[in-house]
Amino acid sequence: METKIFDFRTNLNEEELKYCAKCLKEGKIGIFPTETVYGIGANALNNEAASLIFKAKNRAKDNPLIIHISNFKMLKDITKPPTKIEQQLIDAFFPGPFTLILRGKKNIPSKVNAGLKTVGIRMPENEIAHKLIEYAGIPICAPSANLSSKPSGTKLEDIKSEFMGKVSFMIDGGPTKIGLESTVCEVIDGIPTILRPGKITKEDIISVVGSCKLDASLFKESIATPRSPGMKYKHYAPSKPAILIYSPDESLLLKLIKEHLKPKTAIIGSKEHQHLFSKYQYFSYGKKNDLEEIMHNIFTILRKVDKEDIDYIIIEGVKKEGLGLAIMNRLIRSVSFNYLEK
Ligand code: AMP
Ligand code: MG
Repeated sequence: METKIFDFRTNLNEEELKYCAKCLKEGKIGIFPTETVYGIGANALNNEAASLIFKAKNRAKDNPLIIHISNFKMLKDITKPPTKIEQQLIDAFFPGPFTLILRGKKNIPSKVNAGLKTVGIRMPENEIAHKLIEYAGIPICAPSANLSSKPSGTKLEDIKSEFMGKVSFMIDGGPTKIGLESTVCEVIDGIPTILRPGKITKEDIISVVGSCKLDASLFKESIATPRSPGMKYKHYAPSKPAILIYSPDESLLLKLIKEHLKPKTAIIGSKEHQHLFSKYQYFSYGKKNDLEEIMHNIFTILRKVDKEDIDYIIIEGVKKEGLGLAIMNRLIRSVSFNYLEK
């Protein structure tokens, strides 16, 4: 298959974007930027188109796709009327890095939502994503654009080779603003429950509806049937063995990292600690307290480290609070739950 590449890093070309929208409408698949990570999209009302995504990503069939919309008519077309709390969440966080699990209508093909009665809906705010969906005139199902188990793509150059010849188009919109996938939330028994943490935090949700809880699966290795099926799969993983280490006590944290050093170790950690490990390959994810920056850099760094000639990876953790919760949720999965906290 020929893959057309469009460069919108400095200028969005309307004609080219309309061409991409037409491809999606016709049942082809393509890659586009959103404010969270790059997505690989298809017409959400077309079973065959959706199955092309599963094939291209090698994605498990029981892992449902999030449906992306650009206006509220699309929401009405595919979901049952939201409850009052769901509506408040929609009003507060659409458009944005927030996915809400709603009850789906019967017109959603079984491949898209893995036969579930619910469906994850998100309205991206990124201009390219928004216009692409609007021009296509149909909801677009789109998981993150990466081969399953690999880190999500936050720059087109990181993922280009994984999908060359497998998709009809790729749109380069530069590095994504946020760098981590959307917060996934479901209102369960009247309480918003975070199934996957992200830029929209528990505190943000509480400020809108007064309550919010975290799902039990966020930091657990295996739950037989997690509410968010994607959480049971291997994720974001580099190909070398890795450990995640955290302590709120700075000197204990450094001691633990030093104890785990081996020859040919790469360290992913804060800028402040870089000078202490000058004999090792060190990848700074940004300043300790700049969680937005860490969020932005983490997937690209995981991909970069994977290309180095090293045998072992040590990752410095952050406090599981606010945005730190989302960062640690991804990092724990990237080390396959090999996590040390003291
Ligand atoms: P990704 O495919 O990387 O964009 O991730 C999408 C995440 O949303 C996965 O973890 C899915 O399991 C989850 N998800 C999508 N639809 C639903 C749904 N209806 N109920 C629960 N989780 C969902
Ligand atoms: Mg993904």
